[in-house]
Amino acid sequence: MRFIDGRAIAADIRTQMTEAVQDCKDAGINPTLAVVVPNQDGATQWYVRSIAKSAAASGIDCRVLDLDPDGDAAALTQALTDLSADPAVHAIICQTPLPPGVTMADVGTYIDVRKDVDGANPASLGGILAGQPTFAPATADAVREILRHERVPLVGARVTVVGRSTVVGKPAALLLLAEHATVTVCHSRTRDLANVCAEAEILVAAIGKAGFVSREFVRPGAVVIDVGTNPTADGGLVGDVDPAAVADRAAVLTPVPGGVGPVTTALLLRNTIVAARSAASIG
Ligand code: NAP
Repeated sequence: MRFIDGRAIAADIRTQMTEAVQDCKDAGINPTLAVVVPNQDGATQWYVRSIAKSAAASGIDCRVLDLDPDGDAAALTQALTDLSADPAVHAIICQTPLPPGVTMADVGTYIDVRKDVDGANPASLGGILAGQPTFAPATADAVREILRHERVPLVGARVTVVGRSTVVGKPAALLLLAEHATVTVCHSRTRDLANVCAEAEILVAAIGKAGFVSREFVRPGAVVIDVGTNPTADGGLVGDVDPAAVADRAAVLTPVPGGVGPVTTALLLRNTIVAARSAASIG
């Protein structure tokens, strides 16, 4: 089994962006990504710092807006409304966890779809369904991008996605369906899960359970994309797939960390450039 190098794919994406960033600067546009943080979650803070660092390295301004973690939905929707109206901001993402009782679909509607670089607005998700140009949730898009980068044939391929969340599983399934894959979506009520997964040439795990995917889930020679990010007791991160268990079955696997995560961040930045160019009518 070979590990797919997500960091190298991310570096390629950032290199390909260089010219487009320069076009923006030449047109007097400073591509700007706003990151709204409505919590004090440690993992979120770490992720936001990593986005800000990557953005800076790519010539993108990153504005982090730390909201009162005890604030309500109104404060959050007001911040998103203000950023949507601000012409100096080209892209907006909102971090989870959200205030209690608030869903991303609730607050996503306050993000202007032209700035919705992480596909949080239900209208963006509807665009994927309708086959319209739209920003997809970056993690779901990272799954497609990795498969493209690895030149994995998708037309007619049997794909199984485990997980049906709005942010990962469902949009990943739709994006791969649009590539003419034959997609099966599994979830916690799926019967005979291991056998359904074992039919897949491409297996996407987006579950949120450390090491859940073991040998019997994996068809010999399968491509396995591990979206899961599960914190360990010692402060590390592991995926939904047990790499040792699938090593003699999978052909390739995305590692955690270093697989889907860095590609997701690179796509957020690429989407920011697309949004900035579009706002400046150079897109
Ligand atoms: P989520 O909203 O909790 O969804 C998890 C999905 O897994 C649900 O559809 C659930 O089914 C399904 N599931 C749970 N237990 C299962 C089981 N025993 N058998 C089959 N299916 C099961 O999580 P998410 O937001 O999609 O995230 C999934 C994972 O990806 C998490 O580890 C998250 O941290 C990670 N993630 C990574 C990135 C990245 O950039 N790498 C970004 C976002 C998320 P039901 O619908 O039936 O409950």
